Amino acid sequence: MKSFAVAICAPSGVGKTTVAKRLIEGGEGVLFSVSVTTRGARPGEQPDVAYHFVSRDEFEAMVTNGELLEWAEVHGDLYGTPLANLEAAEREGQLLLLDIDVQGARQVMQSRPDTVTIFLLPPSFEALMERLRERASEDDARLRRRMATAKAELRSVEGFDYVVVNDRLEDAVRDIRAIIHAESRRLDRQAAEVEDLRRRLLEALEAEGR
Ligand code: 5GP
Repeated sequence: MKSFAVAICAPSGVGKTTVAKRLIEGGEGVLFSVSVTTRGARPGEQPDVAYHFVSRDEFEAMVTNGELLEWAEVHGDLYGTPLANLEAAEREGQLLLLDIDVQGARQVMQSRPDTVTIFLLPPSFEALMERLRERASEDDARLRRRMATAKAELRSVEGFDYVVVNDRLEDAVRDIRAIIHAESRRLDRQAAEVEDLRRRLLEALEAEGR
């Protein structure tokens, strides 16, 4: 199968990272795309597992050298997907899971139109606020900033291939697995295998009919 990328986007606080983690844990053949970022590591975040933590200079050099598939500024920090991640997934025949923001997803839609884009929605305003509060408990300004981002991102659902409501985590993960499964069966993604099988079937049929 031809390797492809799946981008998962959601307004802040919809539980996207939890969903992505579950997809990686249970999903064979799914490689998580470790992004580069200029933000500092949060407690418990291992370098090169959650993110590659880099300085602004290092990030800018990567942009200049064309090493990023996409990049964006989110909440004052820079985030980007190394092209090398895509190449590694292609080499290993795995699909690449991108946990990126909407600005990044738009760039990927342009430059890699075969990317499957999935937008996660919260089931209700209450659920969204509850998750935003959990994430931003430290201060009010941070909560307001996350609400503003969520508002802007909710407006950006247009153009995405799929929408999944993250009410129960299990259901959202199951839905996304189903999407990935169906996408992997598209003819253009398995053209080489299909051609090979078709050739063998035709040869056998011809031999049989002689
Ligand atoms: P956080 O700092 O909470 O881990 O991430 C903040 C936002 O940046 C999230 O929406 C996350 O999906 C997004 N993000 C993480 N990595 C990338 C990336 O490589 N590119 C883009 N465009 N956004 C990213």
